[in-house]
Amino acid sequence: MQLNAGEDSRYEENPGDCVGGADVLDLRRHRAWAELTYMERFVHGYAGRRGHLVYPFTMVGGDPSSTGTTTVTTYLIPFKLVFQASDQSQACGSAPVTFDPYKVLSNGQAVVDNVISSPIFTPVPFSQGSGDTLQYIDAFQRANFWGVVQGNTSYHLKLGPLPVTVLQTPPLVIPAANGSAKDETGTLGGCMGIVYDWGWFVGQILIAMSSLSQVQPNTLPIFLTDDVFLTSINGGFHLATGTSNPQTYIWATYNDGSCPGGFNGLCVAQDVADLSHEVAEWADDPFGRTSSPCPSYPLLEVGDPLLGQQHYYSYSGANNGFSYHLQDLVMLPFFEAQTGTS
Ligand SMILES: [Zn+2]
Repeated sequence: MQLNAGEDSRYEENPGDCVGGADVLDLRRHRAWAELTYMERFVHGYAGRRGHLVYPFTMVGGDPSSTGTTTVTTYLIPFKLVFQASDQSQACGSAPVTFDPYKVLSNGQAVVDNVISSPIFTPVPFSQGSGDTLQYIDAFQRANFWGVVQGNTSYHLKLGPLPVTVLQTPPLVIPAANGSAKDETGTLGGCMGIVYDWGWFVGQILIAMSSLSQVQPNTLPIFLTDDVFLTSINGGFHLATGTSNPQTYIWATYNDGSCPGGFNGLCVAQDVADLSHEVAEWADDPFGRTSSPCPSYPLLEVGDPLLGQQHYYSYSGANNGFSYHLQDLVMLPFFEAQTGTS
């Protein structure tokens, strides 16, 4: 299977440490900040021993050392999928089988509302010294750049405005050649929609996105599905389309499976875990092509090194009392680790 930038594959990666990294991260040595109009972002990098910029990276948001709040206009797009094939199992029943992000969960909330209430969008207390309530990505990015953010406390990266705008798109019918509803009780729990072809699915999302006039390159569209995975249990991706003025976008699935078997015996992708993974990687590598100094993780994808491990920031409390599973992420120094550290 061809792996593209920004794509995840749970079965093809061995989570672990960065091995054999090089160079020293020095945030004071920034040479090339850039503010571009289509999406506020900054360019920085790992500094080489002689002070020149190596492994430059582009991230969403302003310069953490000097700017205030960046709010990226975000659209949440519930994507209802109707599978024309089913394995006829007790879990799935006969075709067609519909996976609807407006399905009501056991806590009484629809999937889409549970996502809106999650720390992806709804700020929660993260202890960063000031009693702030922060969104997940804001807390992570502030921690990533804490060395300068503690001197520039007004820096934030937010998804907004809140409440997040929900855009509607027509349901997508999945022909039998492209996917099937399958009983995945042994791995993730219950009936899952499995889409076979990554490229076909990306094409369908691009078609849906093209009819949404609000979606522009300075905005972030998030396509949300319920219990639908790509073959190899890939539950999300972040991608960019176009060259001169790229449109970034995310697809992530919400997994409400009970996860009895999970992946290698661990439950690794509950509720918003996939979405948290993709939002973080989008923020730190929006175009999916930033090289990292770490040979074992050559792209600067901050979620991948902890994929498949039960590392979570679990949050329940404010909002609706639901226990959310947010994936842990590696901080930037991980990618320059000289030996196995994490
Ligand atoms: Zn990833």
